[in-house]
Amino acid sequence: MFDKILIANRGEIALRVIRACREMGIASVAVHSTADADAMHVRMADETICIGPAPSAQSYLSIPAIISACEVTGAQAIHPGYGFLSENARFVQIVEDHGLTFIGPSSEHISIMGDKITAKETMKALGVPCVPGSEGGVADLDTARELAADMGYPVIIKATAGGGGRGMKVAGTEAELERAFQTARSEAQAAFGNDAVYIEKYLTTPRHIEVQVFGDGKGGAVHLGERDCSLQRRHQKVLEEAPGPSISGEERARIGKVCADAVAEIGYAGAGTIEFLYENGEFYFIEMNTRLQVEHPVTEAIFGVDLVREQIRVAAGAPLSFAQEDLKINGHAIEARINAEKLPSFAPSPGRITQYHAPGGLGVRIDSALYDGYRIPPYYDSLIGKLIVHGRDRDEALARMNRALGELIVDGVDTTIPLFRALLEEEAVKTGAYNIHWLEQWLAQGEA
Ligand code: ADP
Repeated sequence: MFDKILIANRGEIALRVIRACREMGIASVAVHSTADADAMHVRMADETICIGPAPSAQSYLSIPAIISACEVTGAQAIHPGYGFLSENARFVQIVEDHGLTFIGPSSEHISIMGDKITAKETMKALGVPCVPGSEGGVADLDTARELAADMGYPVIIKATAGGGGRGMKVAGTEAELERAFQTARSEAQAAFGNDAVYIEKYLTTPRHIEVQVFGDGKGGAVHLGERDCSLQRRHQKVLEEAPGPSISGEERARIGKVCADAVAEIGYAGAGTIEFLYENGEFYFIEMNTRLQVEHPVTEAIFGVDLVREQIRVAAGAPLSFAQEDLKINGHAIEARINAEKLPSFAPSPGRITQYHAPGGLGVRIDSALYDGYRIPPYYDSLIGKLIVHGRDRDEALARMNRALGELIVDGVDTTIPLFRALLEEEAVKTGAYNIHWLEQWLAQGEA
């Protein structure tokens, strides 16, 4: 096992990893930018090192600065958290070239899944059901037109290098196709420096269902059921729950096995998420994330496992600490992503926290790097905390979420807490009868 791990991240996820390290008796190293000198992850780690100025490109994304920090502190392994360098295959290669361990899958698996066209081809070959669409990329408008006519409108043009909901355009009719195709390409070029796009059937009322998998890197793998992340704004998740309210035990076992078998087959190591759209009882693969997800705590809650601990163990060469038959679902969990944002525009709201009080009690977990007097810097993501509740069933979890939101105090900045309070009053949320478009439609009615 490692003696010392460096966490190449900030905020709540850096704290999450520090906590796992401490419970495992592993020393932690926090890296930080000059803007984060007073951040909670810096206060909580065993050692800290400043790696550059505020802009992430010069600090949290600076590969030389992070490698040097490992050498200076003697850390043997790097946990990347999510975002930043977590899905950067070149970074993983450099980490390995320096004799360090990356806590995550191989650079090869990251490359395969980071290119959505290759990911889809790979998954299809492994027997994972995919959204009907082009075989590979679509190079020109005429090909796009032919394919769209064959599969029927609406269609969606997606960037192969896409991520974070960018580089996607829907065309409802042939008249809209040219514009969607050109815009998706130019957006993809601007955002990712790669204008390759592909085309898929656009599903009109799907749910977003994602399966948590874990591979041991030696051909063994398990699944930890699904999360429903259909409540989205601009293709970004807002509230997540597990298990999915629309998924039966039989469906869970079936799609879970398909996913676990697929990652076992390729010898995948560590945590991964296979994302699907789910409509009329069918699953359609859209992408695989080769890292820990923001919403991993809902899975931890219902299975009673520590996914970060497991990531560290697998990276150190240990076998998985659970077999498929050990993994039994207990109750229901829901996560609300609390952002420092002003409603209804969702504009970032950085600034000083004048008062912070975290909720507590049975079944309540808060993963947050906030504290009284903390100044949220304007340079990074606006996620300031995750409130996770666990109940015996979905109704108990919903009531507990409502109660915990009532106890949570974050003063000094605007937050999305009122959004969740309003959402919990909605019949569609109470019954779980929502799809990926529900939240946008509700927001458009001016409900937030
Ligand atoms: P990203 O990597 O940018 O997050 P994804 O491929 O995971 O992109 O898609 C993000 C979201 O976009 C999905 O959760 C869904 O809301 C929407 N989406 C993607 N593909 C389709 C599709 N074929 N039909 C309908 N919606 C889609």
